[in-house]
Amino acid sequence: MRRNDVRVAIWGFGAMGSGMAKMIIEKKGFDIIGVCDVYSGYIGRSIFEILAVDNPYSHDVIVTNNIDEVLDIGCIDVVLLATDSYTSTAFPKIVKIINKGINVISTAEEMAYPKANEPELSEQLDKLSKEKGVTVLGTGVNPGMMMDLLAICMSGVTENVRRFEISRINSLSPFGKTVMEEQGVGLSLSEYNEKNEKNEIAGHVGFKESAFMIAEALGLKVVDFNQSMKPIITEFDRKSPHGFAGAGDVCGVEMSAIAVLDNGIEIILYHPQQIEPEMAGVSTGDYIKISGKPEINLANSPEVEGGIGTIAICVNMIPHVINAKPGLVTMIDLPVPRVIMGDVRKLIRED
Ligand code: NAD
Repeated sequence: MRRNDVRVAIWGFGAMGSGMAKMIIEKKGFDIIGVCDVYSGYIGRSIFEILAVDNPYSHDVIVTNNIDEVLDIGCIDVVLLATDSYTSTAFPKIVKIINKGINVISTAEEMAYPKANEPELSEQLDKLSKEKGVTVLGTGVNPGMMMDLLAICMSGVTENVRRFEISRINSLSPFGKTVMEEQGVGLSLSEYNEKNEKNEIAGHVGFKESAFMIAEALGLKVVDFNQSMKPIITEFDRKSPHGFAGAGDVCGVEMSAIAVLDNGIEIILYHPQQIEPEMAGVSTGDYIKISGKPEINLANSPEVEGGIGTIAICVNMIPHVINAKPGLVTMIDLPVPRVIMGDVRKLIRED
């Protein structure tokens, strides 16, 4: 049996970070050694009390808003960073963790392929993590899996490809207030247009990252990339746990993108997301169509739920990140993701 438990710290105890803690607590061979969040309702409280689960460890874990208190505990194998969507805002946090000599897994969408939007910051992260001997990975359900890695894996059984058409039709209903605001749920069309003009509707972050990841995996380059977003207007009132859209108002956004690669291959991405899609007769699902030899038509319906999917892939990638060579990596650099069902310590290489 290998060494001690795999020691994990969590920075950001929102929907993703707390979900990861809950998953880790149920697994063998892990130890959560510290949690940092700035939410006043959590600071000073035990994570086991917040999660309403039994404490399996011989120590408590009290949420602090001071990340240094956590990082200085020492001997941390990995920090799960679940605070941001953008590389630029996650960057100073990741640098801080790297400088303590600790591996990082980030849920920030742009970190799934940070070179797409932030090539200079990516270079800095790669250089610093190699100097400090640690690995940095960005991942999640999308980007990170459903609209990129899965399509890349499926291309492995083709001789050649002319076009990828990748769709993720999903429900926003399980998400909280932040997501409702980012997607414009509940706004009138004029409010949406006003906010959109000020770049205050984020929509889905990640199309560029997915397209660039697929291109690199195929040994190609993106030569053209365009994306668009339009509001989805509901014809009737829709209510989800954290959102409400009245008839005639915005219940989500429809995102589309097309990327052209340097040999002419097209990647078409389509991602409509709304609260309560079933009320409008829309079934959720993940679809990958590859035009090539042979043709591929992969369909998964209903969709892989975004919250569970992200929580799971971040936790499941922990052994791969600990085992990886130092540097900034993406999902195409690491072994195939798989669920951890046994003792995680058995998955850590000793060399
Ligand atoms: P959330 O809003 O529920 O949680 C974020 C938490 O981070 C909050 O509790 C907040 O208080 C805390 N926080 C923010 N800044 C902090 C700081 N400086 N120090 C300490 N704590 C801080 O969000 P979430 O649903 O948990 O998602 C986290 C991030 O991951 C979001 O940006 C989200 O867009 C992204 N995400 C990506 C994917 C993907 O597929 N790649 C999937 C889900 C979420």
